[in-house]
Amino acid sequence: MELTVLGSGTMTSPPRRNPAGYIIEAEGQFLIMDMGPGIIRQLKWIGVDLLKLNRILISHFHLDHCADLFPLLMNRFLLRRDSNKELTIFGPEGLRSWFEDQARWQGAWLHEALPQLAEWEGVDFEFDGWRVTGRLNLHTSNSLSFRIEKERTLFYSGDTGYQENLIQLATGADLAVVECSLPDHLKQEGHLTPTETARFAREADVKRLLVTHIYPQNDTPDLKEKIQAHFNGEVVIARDFLKIPI
Ligand SMILES: [Zn+2]
Ligand SMILES: [Zn+2]
Repeated sequence: MELTVLGSGTMTSPPRRNPAGYIIEAEGQFLIMDMGPGIIRQLKWIGVDLLKLNRILISHFHLDHCADLFPLLMNRFLLRRDSNKELTIFGPEGLRSWFEDQARWQGAWLHEALPQLAEWEGVDFEFDGWRVTGRLNLHTSNSLSFRIEKERTLFYSGDTGYQENLIQLATGADLAVVECSLPDHLKQEGHLTPTETARFAREADVKRLLVTHIYPQNDTPDLKEKIQAHFNGEVVIARDFLKIPI
C-alpha cells in the first residue's frame, strides 16, 4: 500500500506545492483523497491512467480540495463516454445537492453517464476490502476527517482545527496525513499550527506523521524541527510527488 502526495500546498502556494490531493494504491486499486485545482495535471505527470481512478473521496467543498473534480469527469468522458458510470464519489453531507448545482451548468456530456454519489450519513463506506470511517470536524459545518483501512491504516485530517474526538479516529495509524496550515503566531481557527499538529500526532500515537497543507507562511526550513519538539515519532514534511509506503 502506497500513498503519493499530489498536492501538499494550498491556493496561495508556489507551483511546487499544488493544492490538496493524494492517491493511494493498494493491490492494484486506487483511491484519490481530494482533488484541488491542478490535481489532474499532477496525475498526468506521474503517468496515472485517469480511467483507472474509480474512487474519489472528498473531505469538504472548499475549492482547494475539489475544484478538479468536474474537469476529471470531462476528461474521462472524452477518453471514454461511459467511463464515469464506473466512478464513485464519496463525500460529506450535501454531496448530492452540491453535485447537482455544479452539474446544471454542464451539457449532456455529463448526464449521459453520471458517477455514483455516496454521501456520508454517519455510516462507514465499504468497498473491495477498503473501509473508510468519516467523522465531522470543526473546519466547516460538514467537513470530514477519515480513517482508511485496507492492508494498513491511514488517517487523513482534511482541513481541521485541533479536536479531541479526532484523536480516536487517528489512534495507532500507520500513517497520519495531517494538515499544518500556519505557524503558531498566525493561528487561524479551523486549521492546525505546528504545535497542534504535533500534539495531535502525539496523543493519537500515530506511527508516522506526514505534514501537509502547508501555507507559504509556514513553509520554512525549520518546520520539521518545530514539530519534532512536541512529537517523538517519525515526521515527514510532504512535498509534491513524494511516495510513501504505508
Ligand atoms: Zn478548507
Ligand atoms: Zn484547504
